[in-house]
Parts: sequence; structure tokens; C-alpha cells
Amino acid sequence: MSAQATVVDALIEALGADAVLQGEALSQRATSYWDASPTRALALVRPRTTAEVSQTLAICAQWRQPVVTQGGQTGCTQGGDPRAEEIILSTERMAAIEEIDPLAGTATVQAGAVLQVVQETLAERGLLFPLDLGARGSCTIGGNVATNAGGINVLRYGMMRNLVLGLEAVLADGTVVSSMNQMLKNNAGYDLKQLFIGTEGTLGVVTRVVLRLFPLPSSRHTALVALDSFEQASHLLRTLQRDLAGTLSAYEVMWGSYYRDVTGEGGHRPPLARDYPFYALLETEGAEPESDGERFQQVVERAFEDSVIVDAVLPKSESERRALWDIRENFEIITSREPCYLYDVSLPISDMDAYAERVVGDVRRQWPEGECYVFGHVADGNLHLFVTPGVEGNFHSQSDRLVYEPLTQYRGSVSAEHGIGVEKMPWLGHSRTETELALMRSLKQTLDPSSQLNPGRVI
Ligand code: ZN
Repeated sequence: MSAQATVVDALIEALGADAVLQGEALSQRATSYWDASPTRALALVRPRTTAEVSQTLAICAQWRQPVVTQGGQTGCTQGGDPRAEEIILSTERMAAIEEIDPLAGTATVQAGAVLQVVQETLAERGLLFPLDLGARGSCTIGGNVATNAGGINVLRYGMMRNLVLGLEAVLADGTVVSSMNQMLKNNAGYDLKQLFIGTEGTLGVVTRVVLRLFPLPSSRHTALVALDSFEQASHLLRTLQRDLAGTLSAYEVMWGSYYRDVTGEGGHRPPLARDYPFYALLETEGAEPESDGERFQQVVERAFEDSVIVDAVLPKSESERRALWDIRENFEIITSREPCYLYDVSLPISDMDAYAERVVGDVRRQWPEGECYVFGHVADGNLHLFVTPGVEGNFHSQSDRLVYEPLTQYRGSVSAEHGIGVEKMPWLGHSRTETELALMRSLKQTLDPSSQLNPGRVI
């Protein structure tokens, strides 16, 4: 190679020209799902195998070249947004489902496999991979692992961390760590996979994953209910967990202003009146179609008789069910307003009402045209908030203060499931002690001493 050779030349030589995108091929791509501006980076590398990921990272290490890993680009904290001087490592050509073992209840999947494809492929075999979230059509298994994704079924099946049995990852210097465990139990020393789950690609690049599967449920029941108070919403949750014999799989609460605006003009058709203070979307998954349905109906009816809920609608078809979920999952009518800031906090359920009331009040006082929409996975202690100041300008840090500062008194977290990325870095210390931060830094220093993987993210 000549003296003028660059890291990009070295990557092209090692992986082939079709594996490395530059110039127009790169700028045609959007920065992320959230940011339509053209991608700016040194190049984008698309390895096909773990060995090629290893080669890519080894070359980048040699050139002291910073790398940012990208999956489906749907992350909410700008962690995968490249910088002009970075190389993007995309897992898009590593999307195979390598093996499904129905007996063991495992699937071996490459990092770039899209979540929905994995879900559907397994469903055809009578198997359930229960992680589910709004971005299912684009987000990847590798991204789900790197961010320890949560979503709508966590109350029953746990977060991504609970669904990963083993994985393979490549370290900053190109070393492949293969920890493809298939067993639920394995206490032979440190559980190394945890180093790569939820660490947002800062300690290694996940390339393959052994997923934990469940039998596909044969019955599913859904209801959208209206409630007069948050107290009723938390009371209903306790009742459902007790009376539905462990089949409750989702419990999503929407504050009234969220429901009103997403079902307003140009929004979803409202299946219930729009002036209730709270709404909850609940779903069960069971194995006994006949008795499950009867039990579900009874529990909802009893909640109505006991005045826990004030109105309810039960979908009669899959398309009606989908329409209910759209109210919860498709909120473009709010996010298309500019500016709009998205949050993902966690705190005890018993404090949620007071917390939300305070933030909504503070937002409205700060910006007379402003609004704060609250909804989320209440059973997991996880709320999402959208803050729309209602005036043009950059109010992100002001908005952050209004949302994050009150969390201290509840010992809440600035990130329940989205991670830290770039956006929340200034607030990491709000949810972690100095000792915890020091241990995080020492792990980073050990595994990636020259800070080459996703630099400037998380820690
Ligand atoms: Zn969520």
C-alpha cells in the first residue's frame, strides 16, 4: 500500500469494494429514523461475517480509527448517529436466522436480523420471541441487545437481557469473544455476555445471539379501558395481575391529553370518548382459548361493576386490535410538531401520578403554548413523555431539566429502556453514583483503552 493509503483503502482491500460505502452512496442514507439529514461519515462498512467484523475492527485499531456501530437506526438517544470523522460499522448484511431449536427453545440469530422478521419466522414454527416494541419493523436483534431493549411485553417476559442466553461479540482490537451459551443455567464464572447487553456498543460489537424462546400463545385478548384516576389505573393493574392467572402480557397507560391529541383531527379514530383522565390498553396471552376468553371478559366486567373502570372496548377482530395498538404506538401527530422532545424515565408506580402532574404543570408554566404528554409501560415503572414547547427554538436543555430534576426525590432513572447514547450523557450522573461511574469507566478502559468503539457515547 502507498504512503497515502488510508484506513478506508485498507478496509476496501480487506473486505472488497462492495462492502465499503462512501460519497453519494453514503449521503443517500438518512442519519437515523429520527433525523432525515444525509449521513456524514468517513465511510460505512458492511461486513458479512463475524470474521469480517473482526477484520474491520482490527484495521480500525491499527489506524486508531473511531467506529460507530449501526443496526436499524431507530435508537432514541442519538447513540448511532455518526460523526464526520467516524467509520460506520453496519450489521445490515448479517441478518440470517442461523438455527432454530424448538426442543431447547432457542434460536441463533445474527445481529442484523430485523426483530419483526425474527418474530414472524419463529411464529410460523409455533414459537414466540416475546420482545416487542413499536420499532419492530426496522430495529435489529443486535441493537436490541446493545440497548437492552424493553417495550410492551416486559412485565411478563422481562427485557432483552432476560431473553439472551448467549452471544458472540468482537472487541475493539478485533478479538472475537464467543459465548454462545444455549442453557438457561450456566454459572461457570463471570457471565460475560452481560458486558455487551445494554452497554450500547461501547465495549464490543455484538455479532450473533442465542435467543430464548417460548411456546406461541394460542389465545390473545385485548381491551382499551377508560379510568377516572391514576389510582384506579394502578388498582386495576394489581387486580389483573392477581385475577388473570399470570397471563397479563401488556399494560399500557395513556394520560388523557395524550389520548385526546392522538385521536384528534387528523389522528386515529377514537374507540372511546376523548375526555376521560386516563386510558389503559391491556392484553393477555394464554394457552386455553376458551377459558382464557371467558376469564378475560369476566375480569373486565367485574372492574366495570366495581367502578374501577368507567368505559371499555374489546376488539372483535385483529384489525380492530391493531387499531387500538396504533393509538399507543403511532404518535406522529405529536412528534411531527417541532420541537418535540422524547423522554424515557423510570420511577416507582406509587410516585408516577405526582411526578407526571408536576412535570406537566411545569411545562405548561414554562411555555404557555406547551404540552407534556405522558404514557407508557406503567407496570414496569416506565413512563414516556413528549414535551412540545409550542414555540420555535431549541429548548432541549430547559426541557431536560423539567423532566429529570424531579426524578431525584423518587430515586428514578433518566433512562428506563432507551439508554444514554449522546443525548442523555449530561444526565447519567443524575441516576448513577460516582462509584458506579468510576467502575463503568474502568470497564471501558479495560476493554477499549483507546476509546475506539462508539466514542463520546454513554460514558
Ligand atoms: Zn417504550
